[in-house]
Amino acid sequence: MSRFLNPRLSKLKAYTPGEQPQDKRYIKLNTNESPYPPSPVVIDAVKRARVEELRLYSDPEGKVLKKKLAELYGLGSENVFISNGSDDILNFAFMAFAGEGIGARFPDITYSFYKVFADLHGVLYETVPLAEDFSIRPEDYYGTGALTVIANPNAPTGIALTREQIREVLESNPDRVVVIDEAYVDFGAESSVPLIQEYPNLLVVMTYSKSRALAGARLGIALASPELIADLELLKYSTNPYNVNQLTMDIGCAAVDSDGYFRDICRKIIETREDTVRALVELGFRVLPSKTNFLFITREGLNGKDFYLALKERGILVRHFARPRIENFVRVTVGTPEEMEAFLAAAKEIIQTA
Ligand code: PMP
Repeated sequence: MSRFLNPRLSKLKAYTPGEQPQDKRYIKLNTNESPYPPSPVVIDAVKRARVEELRLYSDPEGKVLKKKLAELYGLGSENVFISNGSDDILNFAFMAFAGEGIGARFPDITYSFYKVFADLHGVLYETVPLAEDFSIRPEDYYGTGALTVIANPNAPTGIALTREQIREVLESNPDRVVVIDEAYVDFGAESSVPLIQEYPNLLVVMTYSKSRALAGARLGIALASPELIADLELLKYSTNPYNVNQLTMDIGCAAVDSDGYFRDICRKIIETREDTVRALVELGFRVLPSKTNFLFITREGLNGKDFYLALKERGILVRHFARPRIENFVRVTVGTPEEMEAFLAAAKEIIQTA
């Protein structure tokens, strides 16, 4: 930190992204990326991209992509916001819907970026412990008087709430925004998108990084009532009007046109996930019930950090969180069947020598 930094930011603790090591080739099961390439339609769109037109700014209104997304989700363009990854939208949500006496509430074990955004914007926040079984208790978020932020399914646990449980949270917070972060919803959870017409306080945030295999393209979307979308647009036009580059807009359109491919890779990942769960249970692991493309696992007598390091030594990267209650868990992204076989073989070897 330099002596020039705004003193208000001096205590800010930044988010730590998962490792992207360049030293050797790992089986990368640490950042919940897709093991499959983007759809052939996307690859074709990139090949056909009119690169010479990159001299022009991208459309700040993102009209073409928004229209396509609106059709895909059964909404109007006025219900859609697009951004440079969904972290950008979460940042805007904390900036727009909390502060000045409005706090935020989210689970103690969840996406660790939420508290960074809260601190960045001087938002006072309260974290609520997960239940004993690591699920979110919806009643902890009734009438919060604060901005409520729930990842559904939650990360890193992978556990999902039902749409009806989300409805209860919305119902009891009519005067505050409820953010439902659906980064992993496509892997088997219920989306809250059908509730948007009923609840003007609902902001659904999605990413094209995981189920659409586009983490490197950086495309996040928000779906909500026109009034909440207008607030996000206000912040976008006050920070970076061209927040989605032209190539990513083209890629996003092609991704929407690839629904069959998208369903196919989600189905494959879910199948691999369930096969991996069975194998892990046989090896004596406890696996939290996941509706995502990752598994949160622990095993009696196995130290989480040591397990992470032993896997890394064997060329397999997973994610370990040095935090109370979860320090003996690791989070394992679901890769291809071959990658999961390699992971299971390494896990078996480690527990046999432990
Ligand atoms: N929400 C959750 C719960 C996540 O795990 C992630 C990925 N780290 C994001 C949002 C952000 O994803 P992106 O910025 O790639 O859209």
